[in-house]
Amino acid sequence: MQRRSPLSNILDTEITYLNGVGPQRAAVLQKVLGISTFGDLLYLFPYKYINRTQVHRIADVTEDAPYVQLVAKLVGMGATGQGRNSRFTAIVDDGTGRMELVWFGGIRWIAQKLKPNATYVIYGKPARYGDRLSITHPEIDPYNPEKSEIGGIIPAYSTSESMKNAHISSKTIAQLQRTLIEKVHKHINETLPPYIIEQERLMTLPEALFNVHFPQSQVLLERALYRLKFEELFFLQLGILRRRNGRNVQTQGHVFGTVGDMFNRFYAEKLPFPLTDAQKRVIREIRADMRTGRQMNRLLQGDVGSGKTVVALMSMLIAVDNGFQACIMAPTEILANQHYESMSKMLSGLPINVGLLTGSSRKAERNALHRALEQGELHILIGTHALLEDVVQFHNLGLVVIDEQQRFGVAQRARLWDKNATSPPHVLVMTATPIPRTLAMTVYGDLEVSVIDQLPPGRKPVRTIHYTDAMRERLFGLMRQQIAEGRQVYVVYPLIRESEKMENLKDLQDGYESITRAFPPPHYVTVVVHGQMSADDKDFGMNQFASGRAHIMVATTVIEVGVNVPNATLMVIESAERFGLSQLHQLRGRVGRGADESYCVLMTSTKLSADSRRRMDTMVATNDGFRIAEVDLQLRGPGDIEGTLQSGTPFDLRLASITADAPLMQRARQTAQTVLDTDPLLQLPHHAAMATHLNTLAIKRTDFGGIS
Ligand code: ADP
Ligand code: MG
Repeated sequence: MQRRSPLSNILDTEITYLNGVGPQRAAVLQKVLGISTFGDLLYLFPYKYINRTQVHRIADVTEDAPYVQLVAKLVGMGATGQGRNSRFTAIVDDGTGRMELVWFGGIRWIAQKLKPNATYVIYGKPARYGDRLSITHPEIDPYNPEKSEIGGIIPAYSTSESMKNAHISSKTIAQLQRTLIEKVHKHINETLPPYIIEQERLMTLPEALFNVHFPQSQVLLERALYRLKFEELFFLQLGILRRRNGRNVQTQGHVFGTVGDMFNRFYAEKLPFPLTDAQKRVIREIRADMRTGRQMNRLLQGDVGSGKTVVALMSMLIAVDNGFQACIMAPTEILANQHYESMSKMLSGLPINVGLLTGSSRKAERNALHRALEQGELHILIGTHALLEDVVQFHNLGLVVIDEQQRFGVAQRARLWDKNATSPPHVLVMTATPIPRTLAMTVYGDLEVSVIDQLPPGRKPVRTIHYTDAMRERLFGLMRQQIAEGRQVYVVYPLIRESEKMENLKDLQDGYESITRAFPPPHYVTVVVHGQMSADDKDFGMNQFASGRAHIMVATTVIEVGVNVPNATLMVIESAERFGLSQLHQLRGRVGRGADESYCVLMTSTKLSADSRRRMDTMVATNDGFRIAEVDLQLRGPGDIEGTLQSGTPFDLRLASITADAPLMQRARQTAQTVLDTDPLLQLPHHAAMATHLNTLAIKRTDFGGIS
């Protein structure tokens, strides 16, 4: 498939026109790497560089070195062992000492290749066996003082099994890049206007592309990478900001011009606590946004327990004050019920009708509710995704709040938009999974962001402890002590995949039994809540716990979001290594809601992977959701972060890292903003090449979005 941009470009040439690429190689490159043009290959960057500028002396080599490069003479070699135990050993000497090279496979080939007394360049990872240092399966090439690559920085391209089968190695790719860059170097079009290159002190594009494949020095490599990362982030942000600007002009919003009676009376008479400064600021931001005439699309971030619910409620009151209806959608029935109870209570005495709609609402109730909603008698509707059904019609919906957004996708959000026939309602999306600023800027780059960065006063940080299964007695001790003090305990089991449902339930059942053995009734009351129970049973369990009649709640992650029982002070997470960081943090957020000292115990097996250990250590070290999100992002990469895929902003960064290059991202965004401030539609002649490039990228992204 050939795509030609208006400025016809040599980089669009089909890859088969490159010397060294026949039909077979072309097919592999296309299939494995998605490379079909010169440009595709040129933008296939090395995943690392091997610094061969240094030659080590054997006398200095230790087994700790990550790699060494030697220039040494072959002084002995031979095969030993039989069949599976056969190996080939070579001894090399560089005048400072001797070293062993070992091969376990490809023995015949290596035996033919090596010549006694010849000098070789040897590269590999040293290891110690007994008192001898050796390198297993080193790279080894004849030393040629003129041609050896000593002194260079060698690119390494990743290769897969099928590429190896087609004899395409990292070296092959480097050779192709060499041929390619010689051919196209003079014809590469700059994508950035000269003033940006100058102002940001960037390397030009041809120079950067050359040095990223063939670094002429460490400094030039770094400058090349900087230029290419900047470019990547700049175009990403330029696209996002352009789209946002476009939407601001296009989408008319309801004007909520007044803050009226309901809001003011609630504030003066009903609010059970003074708002934190952060809550006040965020409410001001929302209020200002809803009165502009533009449709609001705002993300409200706030750590668990930061008090987002009341912000949602007061925003909904502004809608009501302006003659509109509002709704809030929660991801689980438990949470919807809880919102309904707490909001009804807070609003009692005010002339506001609040309704609840979930999957288990009875038919008669439901019909009455639909009618009241359509006639505008119901002011605020609280519910689950049952709100999305077509039969749910509003009289005039003005504001939609989506709680714990990471559970919903873009499509669901869009369906709520359509619930107002004349123009879309304002949208407030709330999330307790803090998204690092850099990611928010990208993934939600077209949303406004408000942050509650402060917890209500008097909260004590939750103390987090990591126990292995062998320390279960200590856990039971802590549970007994908390219950003796009148507190309550959650014990949570992981629910991994649908297909493992039965197994997980068995875990839960076994756990429940072992807990009732250690905490026998009637002295102790333990309830179970999980996703497969009927709504009635779930409610019963929840109510037992919420009302304080049950001491222990054994549950799956259904309680992950939103559940609020301030008297619960101990959260036990079983098989904690099976949870992601953000989930662990969410679960921990279920305790520490009252004034008492609270605990979170992470139970794991003794053997942990490095990643799991880092997750446990992070949880123990900090309560700060933003720091946790940063680590999460480092461990998983942005593609896996919940919400990224649903965000509707597909992006694929080849060089830049959202975590490591945060300052550069900021800079690129500012530059992009300045460009759009002076030339919103990118119509100025000196922006032409840039605009064309942006459009080409946009086309590629759409294609990518379509297939992924
Ligand atoms: P989240 O942001 O996790 O949704 P919630 O809105 O559920 O948090 O609030 C957590 C708890 O803190 C609730 O019990 C709520 O009543 C209480 N709360 C909220 N704001 C304040 C405040 N300003 N001062 C004291 N308590 C507050
Ligand atoms: Mg909440």
